[in-house]
Amino acid sequence: MKVAIASGKGGTGKTFLSTNLAAYMSESIPTVLIDLDVEEPNSGLFIKGELLYSEPAYKQCPDWDKQNCLMCGKCQSLCNYHAVIKVKDEIFVFPELCHSCYACSELCQTDSLPMKKKRIGSITHYKFNRLDYVEGRLDIGQEQAVPLISQTNDFPAKHLQNVISICDCPPGTACPAIESVKDADLVILTTEPTPFGLHDLKLIVKSLIILKKKFAVVVNKWGVGNDDVLKYCESKNITVVAKIPNDRRIAEEYSMGNLVYDNFGLFRTELDKIKNYILNSGGKK
Ligand code: SF4
Ligand code: SF4
Repeated sequence: MKVAIASGKGGTGKTFLSTNLAAYMSESIPTVLIDLDVEEPNSGLFIKGELLYSEPAYKQCPDWDKQNCLMCGKCQSLCNYHAVIKVKDEIFVFPELCHSCYACSELCQTDSLPMKKKRIGSITHYKFNRLDYVEGRLDIGQEQAVPLISQTNDFPAKHLQNVISICDCPPGTACPAIESVKDADLVILTTEPTPFGLHDLKLIVKSLIILKKKFAVVVNKWGVGNDDVLKYCESKNITVVAKIPNDRRIAEEYSMGNLVYDNFGLFRTELDKIKNYILNSGGKK
């Protein structure tokens, strides 16, 4: 079962919840934590595991072969992303802009744009006590997170045998966030009880309704702000699974890179509610 921890807004506690929930669940169930926030993966700051395996990740991009090129310019007009440009008698390909759709390569009548693999980042597997941790990390300068998110998401199914996958997703509602939740059986949305939290929660809820995803909400930093998030969830019939109290001691531990679920009883109680909700939901949409 794949559970995506997502939010419309950064800073609501996705990594905090993902790392603690995954470590907690791994005590009783084979669990893998997958960091899909490949532009800035930071679950590893808290899951200080032993390195087991690492491999480079690639995407496919066209590579111009000038020998038979007719200089017709069709490749330039085909590419929706301006990743192929014809300048005088040269064709330039910009791999950072390429979405690997194959259109230019397939439709070039002289086969002058064969697809070749280009490195975009890495996928690494760590072991932390009983928890498997898989991290996707985009190379510096790479702009296309989606292909690496997709490959990182697929890695555990190919190489590991876990019952539960907890995915730490990128924030927002753009392509990386959508790619991260699209295969999830259940999405847990972390939010905070503030106007900003509510505003961005509404955005991701709209996206998940379009994607027909099963989702529920966890309110983090409960005690700051107001209860408008709860009223909104009630009005939309959205389950609020847990409310994690705003506690300075938890923030201090977290800021030092420590998991906190073992040291704070109230937090552990809320994690237990989330774990039970996940297990009872069974991944049905
Ligand atoms: S479509 Fe093919 S033949 Fe035409 S300019 Fe592009 S690479 Fe050359
Ligand atoms: S593969 Fe698709 S996105 Fe990439 S350069 Fe060709 S047409 Fe553009």
